[in-house]
Amino acid sequence: MRSLNLLTCVFSLLGATLAFADRPNILFIMSDDHAVRAVSAYSGGIMLTPGIDRLAREGLRFDRAYVGNAICGPSRATMLTGLHSHANGFYSNEWSGSFDGFQQTLPRLLQDAGYNTAVIGKWHLYSDPVGFNHWDVIHNIFEQGSYYNPEFRGPAGVELTEGYVAELITDKALAWLHAAANDPAPFFLIYNHKTPHRDWLPGPHELRSWEESTHIEEPDTLLRDFNGENAMRRDARMSIAEYMTNGDVKKSMPGNLTSEQAVLWESAFAEGNRRYESADLSHDADVRWKYQRYIKTYIASVQSMDREIGRLLDYLDTSGLSDNTLVVYTSDQGFFLGENGWFDKRWMDEVSSRIPLLVRWPQRIPAGSHTDAMVQNIDFAPTLLDAAGVQPHRPMHGVSLLPLFDNPNTNWDRDLYYHFYENPGFHGVPRHYGVHTGRYKLVHYYRYGEWELFDLEADPAEQYNRYGDERYESITRDLKNRLLTLRNKYQVPDRDPETPWYHGPLIRTLEQLMKLL
Ligand code: CA
Repeated sequence: MRSLNLLTCVFSLLGATLAFADRPNILFIMSDDHAVRAVSAYSGGIMLTPGIDRLAREGLRFDRAYVGNAICGPSRATMLTGLHSHANGFYSNEWSGSFDGFQQTLPRLLQDAGYNTAVIGKWHLYSDPVGFNHWDVIHNIFEQGSYYNPEFRGPAGVELTEGYVAELITDKALAWLHAAANDPAPFFLIYNHKTPHRDWLPGPHELRSWEESTHIEEPDTLLRDFNGENAMRRDARMSIAEYMTNGDVKKSMPGNLTSEQAVLWESAFAEGNRRYESADLSHDADVRWKYQRYIKTYIASVQSMDREIGRLLDYLDTSGLSDNTLVVYTSDQGFFLGENGWFDKRWMDEVSSRIPLLVRWPQRIPAGSHTDAMVQNIDFAPTLLDAAGVQPHRPMHGVSLLPLFDNPNTNWDRDLYYHFYENPGFHGVPRHYGVHTGRYKLVHYYRYGEWELFDLEADPAEQYNRYGDERYESITRDLKNRLLTLRNKYQVPDRDPETPWYHGPLIRTLEQLMKLL
């Protein structure tokens, strides 16, 4: 009897090992505010990202990937749950409280299925991660951490580190991967970067090689004037001209640098700052100067991160893990890189709601493929669960993208729903929801009673609102029906979450104070 038990035990262990062997490891890489235009695997780029581009060359590039709410925390909550904001309860960075990690999530389901799970780097959900065997996330009051010498938070408490955040996160991820490689269980690692979030501080290598004289091409709309246009765009506090702080444009140095780091920072920016102070620039020239500082530090930050992502992918290669590891690269949303004279995100505009999405899985995906299918961050959890052979207990809003892995030209007719709630909030972007069909986008700014309709084929930069144009009457009717269908499908409540009365005035005061720093 005893030997039978032993045999049963051996066979069940063997079965588990075989089942694990069939399941891929999963490495999910998410950066923060990385616009499609700043990934060279996508055409029209402004820079080179050789580390990230490897995933496109060796895997599948999604050309029409979007988020359902273009703001940091809510995007991450959607990634974890496969649900839009109203169903996972995390609407806003500013007033949603903390994310409820005890609901059905991707990490909990994978952990229950035997995966060795970890999250390292950016978390930004104001709660301790749930469903992870290991977690080590960057930390401060706004959950942002800092670029240099950040604090990390784990089950044992808060740890102050020294160094550059992208390098530290990668060191930690490599250490964990090294240990995970000896575990028979497949791994699921979320490796999330802070970079290139505001205030775009590059790593030491980029500071050492900083060239003040490099000139990056300006977007056509850098000096766009919203006077005379609709109120919600005019009222938004997004402009480089008015809302970029001294810290943002490197006129002031962060207070927490070591003396060695401060010397590097000075060597990059001090001389340019002296010339700026003595130049007495006109309004437009000032915007152009700020834009150059902004875009060049943004690019340099991405380069600092890209090198680290390359280092992690190298490790997968040299340790023999690449073949059976599904790797995802994406961002929590896009970003305005000077378009409309703006920075930041939040809008349903292509620039801010579209994301890079690259997936490599040599056992399943032909190298160098790409797809036009409309996909969204609600699909991440269903896709990774499908790849792992795990069924969720309750339905998710997203769908598995595995059919596109096998055939990028799979027939894929789909409308996407978008809903932004964070108003009142930083940058004054109004609440809005909308439908995206691929060619058309209809957006309802419901507290202004305003609509926007864009025809992306005729107007890819979304500069001409066609709402009310009689040539688009029947299209508008059709889009309104599609929008209603989506709101019913996802059971979006008619009533929005409310914010405390003082939140709006508090945020506007903070924005004014930030200008003085
Ligand atoms: Ca973000």
